[in-house]
Amino acid sequence: MYTTRLNKRIAILLFALMMLAGLGCARGESPSAAETIAPIIIATDEPEATAVITPIPLPQLKYIFLFIGDGMGYTQIQAASEALAASAREPLSFLDFPVQGSVKTASFDGSVTDSAAAATAVSTGKKTINGYLGLDSAKNRIENIAETLRNTGRRIGILTTVSLDHATPAGFFSHVDSRRSYAAITDDLFASGFNFFAGGGFHSTPDAPERAIENGYTLIHAFEEAPVSTEGNLILSSRLTFGDFGILPAIDGGARTNWLKKATGLAIARLTSPEGFFIMVEGGRVDYFCHYNDAGSFVAELLDMDEAVQSALSFYAEHPQETLILVTADHETGDVTLSEGDRAALLRQTISSDTCDNTLVQECLSAKTSFEAALPLFASAFGLDNLTEVETALLKEAYAKTYFNNSPNNSDEEYGVYEPITTACINLVAARAGIRFGSGGHTGKDVPIYAIGVGSEFFSGNYENTNIHDALLQAVAKYPLV
Ligand SMILES: [Zn+2]
Repeated sequence: MYTTRLNKRIAILLFALMMLAGLGCARGESPSAAETIAPIIIATDEPEATAVITPIPLPQLKYIFLFIGDGMGYTQIQAASEALAASAREPLSFLDFPVQGSVKTASFDGSVTDSAAAATAVSTGKKTINGYLGLDSAKNRIENIAETLRNTGRRIGILTTVSLDHATPAGFFSHVDSRRSYAAITDDLFASGFNFFAGGGFHSTPDAPERAIENGYTLIHAFEEAPVSTEGNLILSSRLTFGDFGILPAIDGGARTNWLKKATGLAIARLTSPEGFFIMVEGGRVDYFCHYNDAGSFVAELLDMDEAVQSALSFYAEHPQETLILVTADHETGDVTLSEGDRAALLRQTISSDTCDNTLVQECLSAKTSFEAALPLFASAFGLDNLTEVETALLKEAYAKTYFNNSPNNSDEEYGVYEPITTACINLVAARAGIRFGSGGHTGKDVPIYAIGVGSEFFSGNYENTNIHDALLQAVAKYPLV
């Protein structure tokens, strides 16, 4: 951890030096190769004291990382940040990036976007109708930034913790009028020619292995299966899936731990080349757990994405004159607000609501475990120490409902989609942490963007999400490869 923080400080120092080196370049003007290599000679009154300082090469934008936390609004980031501080842990890696902005997220047809329209706006620079991917509101196909950069020779990676055909990753390779058109989205993935995909399976493509081979991809299901050679195109469709698709929740740990960081590392290893790369990395489950009001789990997903950002920062420290890192979100989910509370409670939860339903609750039901025997198990899994009488009574009532009214996919309105005892536990964690969810849906709130590196100056201010695409093109034009 110390090394990571040190790398980051070095990276930020290098960024400052690099910006100083680039001051002579007017906006839109690129440095010549001669300028790039010219040494700086400082003459003093003493001839023997003449010093030759090794030049810092002027920047060229070769490597681009775009991190998207799905549903990751300002308050989600603040909650995670304060939970880390309250637990005396290292802060989020991107909070002090030198350039920050604020992004408006409305779609073409509403002030509240879905992930498809948001991904399309970010990737193409055009607002569209919720549910559309890579099409404008009149259903015209629009080239996206990944395709544009692929066409200029860069290598492309698309990484996500949800399924490979989900809206956010699909916004960078697909062109369909429904985010649910999974077969067509998968067709577009195989036709993209992109170099690396990583995610949690496909919704409706049982013939994926054959399709991969037909389209020149090697399809693997675990990191250990990655070919040594970085030649050729690769799809990592992880076996660590959540039901049939999507990577397991980060909070559940185990083999899932640092999956996105490992995927980012594999992308860097495979895509680093003289032609450069564009890597989109989605932390896809912040949204999911905000929809279901599971605060401990959304924070774990956010911290999981931050681990991946740290990999990008380590790369940036080695390539400061060639790398841009952006961290942003597509929209806010859950209308999260923060009040007085013990934010560290968010980090004491160690099980997702889904996994609690599927394991702990089922085990208690099948063993006919009494409330008194079950309580320590739930308290431990959710980090609910020193329960008050009122809290214990709430859990007891919820456990009784779980026990006597158990049915698959319990839809008791009072408790939502999860088993009553699971819902009572996540509600207690949120209450202790001072987190409130105003809804189970998306909101129209602005989201932050954090930028560091070559071209980051284009990302300050308050602007529409379409500007992320436009600013990327401006940055690429200002700092061409030489
Ligand atoms: Zn959502």
